[in-house]
Amino acid sequence: MTIDPYVLRLTRLRAVVADAGLDAVLISQPENRTYLSGFTGSAGWLLVLADAALFATDFRYYEQVGLECPDFELVKLPAGLQEALPGLVERIGGRKLGFEADHATFAEVEEWRTGLTACEWVPTKGLTRDLRAVKDGAEVTLIRAAVKIADEALAAALAEVRPGMRERDLSWLIESYMHARGADGPAFETIVACGPNGARPHARVSDAPLTLGEPIVIDMGARLGGYCSDLTRTVCLGQPADPGRFWEIYNTVLRAQIAAQSAVRPGMGGLQIDGIARDAITEAGYGEQFGHGLGHGVGLAVHEEPRLARTNATEALVPGHVVTVEPGIYLPGWGGVRIEDIILVTDDGAEVLTTAPKDPIISIS
Ligand code: ZN
Ligand code: ZN
Repeated sequence: MTIDPYVLRLTRLRAVVADAGLDAVLISQPENRTYLSGFTGSAGWLLVLADAALFATDFRYYEQVGLECPDFELVKLPAGLQEALPGLVERIGGRKLGFEADHATFAEVEEWRTGLTACEWVPTKGLTRDLRAVKDGAEVTLIRAAVKIADEALAAALAEVRPGMRERDLSWLIESYMHARGADGPAFETIVACGPNGARPHARVSDAPLTLGEPIVIDMGARLGGYCSDLTRTVCLGQPADPGRFWEIYNTVLRAQIAAQSAVRPGMGGLQIDGIARDAITEAGYGEQFGHGLGHGVGLAVHEEPRLARTNATEALVPGHVVTVEPGIYLPGWGGVRIEDIILVTDDGAEVLTTAPKDPIISIS
């Protein structure tokens, strides 16, 4: 017998809600809503109580909720949530109701409070986020497939790349190949940053031409069934124009990436793994040029828990976490090098899901 994953997720949420001393929680954050209900639309609220799970939405989604969310009772909202809140008083009564303080706006909460004065409104943070961090088998299958699509699309696009193409052209080519391989779409705007543009970790694509011998940072991901992949490679068309510096930086980032990635296993802390990569880069003299965290969880959102970063001193990895490891070095005026893989934490270690090669030289005939 297979257990409906949504029943399991609701059960876990109810346990967390009870632990927090709440009677119910109002979920408004889109990925949390999808995770708990299976809903793929873009508007609606979940109200989860110990003995009921309600999905409140407007006319556009009545049918969709019926099809996608069999574990939820539909609450029709002809005139918005605010209008319906007094009607929900009977079910919620004068109890303690949590809301997502890291998503709901101040204005929304003020409105809700006015509409439901009988409830005590309690701000919560991360109730669903922490559940989402640990992936089940079906989620891992989707992430694995999204990783494969990105790996294959990158290989296909790099087989065609030529000097003189614009950053924008290569980005489009990559996205077309992800589409051709069945992706719902890109997980985020594909980054292609050539030469000095690569010194900005989150550069946007431009009309700049791809030139021979310059480092090109490509950061891309596919979305499949709602789940994301995230892949960065740095490549060079032909031999590097500045081989001494290129290889010193490339090999430093690669060493840091492999050292950190090899340390991923249950029980390791986000701070610890970040430190392994950061020490390797600092020893090579580039510590100041690695200004971002080492990695992040990936799932329904491209960036989610857990974080592999100096800021995460408390959380240890557990089986089912899916994280990126992506150190980088950025030199203004020259460019950047970043290498990123996705890793699944397993019961006794880790599995690197990414298979894209790490030889940066693209031979141009
Ligand atoms: Zn990335
Ligand atoms: Zn990433």
